[in-house]
Amino acid sequence: MRYALAALFGALFLLSCATPTREQSLVGKAADAMGGAKALGDIKTISTSGTSKWWEPEQSEVPGGEPRFSAEGKIDSISDVASRTTRYDYQKNFAYPTPRTFTYSEIVTPQAGYVIGIDTNGRNAESLKANPPAHSMSGYRLAATQRERARTAIAGMISAMLANPDAVKPAADITVQGRNLPAVSYQSFIVGFDPQTGLPERVRNLDYDNIWGDVNYDSVLSDWRDVGGVKIPMKRSIQLNGRVVQETQLTDARINPPIDQARLQIPAAVLANAAKPASDNVPYQWVIRRQYIGTYMDSDNVSYDSKGSPGLRLQQLSPGVFHLTGGTHNSLVVEMSDHLVVVDAPVTDAQSMWLLNATKSQFPGKPIRWVVLTHHHMDHAGGVRGLLGDGATLVVGQGSYKHFNDVLRAPTTRNPDMKVMDLSRTPIMEVPQSHLMTDSRGRQVVAYAMDNPHAKGMLMVWVPDAKLGYVTDIWTPGPPLPAKPNPGLASVVNAVKKAGIQPERFAGGHGSVDEYQKLEKLMGQ
Ligand SMILES: [Zn+2]
Repeated sequence: MRYALAALFGALFLLSCATPTREQSLVGKAADAMGGAKALGDIKTISTSGTSKWWEPEQSEVPGGEPRFSAEGKIDSISDVASRTTRYDYQKNFAYPTPRTFTYSEIVTPQAGYVIGIDTNGRNAESLKANPPAHSMSGYRLAATQRERARTAIAGMISAMLANPDAVKPAADITVQGRNLPAVSYQSFIVGFDPQTGLPERVRNLDYDNIWGDVNYDSVLSDWRDVGGVKIPMKRSIQLNGRVVQETQLTDARINPPIDQARLQIPAAVLANAAKPASDNVPYQWVIRRQYIGTYMDSDNVSYDSKGSPGLRLQQLSPGVFHLTGGTHNSLVVEMSDHLVVVDAPVTDAQSMWLLNATKSQFPGKPIRWVVLTHHHMDHAGGVRGLLGDGATLVVGQGSYKHFNDVLRAPTTRNPDMKVMDLSRTPIMEVPQSHLMTDSRGRQVVAYAMDNPHAKGMLMVWVPDAKLGYVTDIWTPGPPLPAKPNPGLASVVNAVKKAGIQPERFAGGHGSVDEYQKLEKLMGQ
């Protein structure tokens, strides 16, 4: 009996050696195509230089339109395999939202992340305090940067799969334009292989996007070249649900170059207070794509600087008129006799949940009946689902209906901020000229369509009894006005004239509140 069992186990052992699983053979074939397991395992350091371009689909000019070209630039990187540390040196020339250049570096290790220089218009308190500017990464940014590092370091990923076969799991084929890529799942990634060459072709994450809900975030690898005995993809195209959002072309790649370890060190004082990588509900798309347009606020709260702001609050501007402030993006809440009007649904459903809870306790029995969006951009509309639960009507600019109709039908099973709701029957109203919202006591809120240089279908909101206007992204009330008028500011004054209203103050989707007279005076110069 004992011999029989031993023989059986022996046979099973042989069988398992002789017949690798489908996943193991896909990984093995990929390793062979890339130069072999030994060549991959011998990589100690890698350096690359390349150029990149970035686009942001949800900052488009037209709702649902072409992604906005946001930046082009250079990225150099050096990686040390043993310490799993990479340094990136960026020069990003932005075209959007304003032309500017950010030159900065990132060092990312398994324990911490460090940013040297200015990389955003939305600097946090730590960056503003440091001289020269630098800051440790938030746990969110660190986790996102580590994930993107792993996605990009494809030789390292295939090597790690070979070393940890049990972590390589079955996955359904990735189907792209009629082609089926056999795939495996590894950590958070699904890797699809070119059926002809065996090379890894597509590295996918199943992400959540505040506008489009459940999305595929893919890097597509091509232009493979031999670099010191290892095949390296010189081209990487990053796609969000199939739309290109970043393209990188390497101009140089080296295997095992000497690297200066000092350039990979995070200062001890920074390290002592640096955040650990976040593990739960990392808002990858927010963290990654706000960097695409150079506006990312590096924080472990996506709404505000968790180290520099006390958080969100509702500030009364006038009886029954409240400004949601304290974060990077604001809303306006107007209390009507038996319901509420909310203008803008920024950032995420988490921010909307905060606002919803605040309104439930401050205005009990008054549901949100109208949700007005000034425009469709992801940072001012990304919390729209969270405000529609009371059966509100969504009020949007002309040409926005189809976009939001599609958005509210998109699958949202991965939404970390709220449970799945069927919002497909939400009434959506386009405003070609103006839309009046009123109550039984005669309070009025009016949305006006306005010409402007920022986005098609932009709305300005007016609360007549408070003599208060509200605009987003074309004027930021609060900070000093520029010395000279610009097209955005001019568009506000033109819209006020066209509407025939006499505002005393404006509140903003950014900033705070300011006197309208200042703007009129500037335009009169
Ligand atoms: Zn905008």
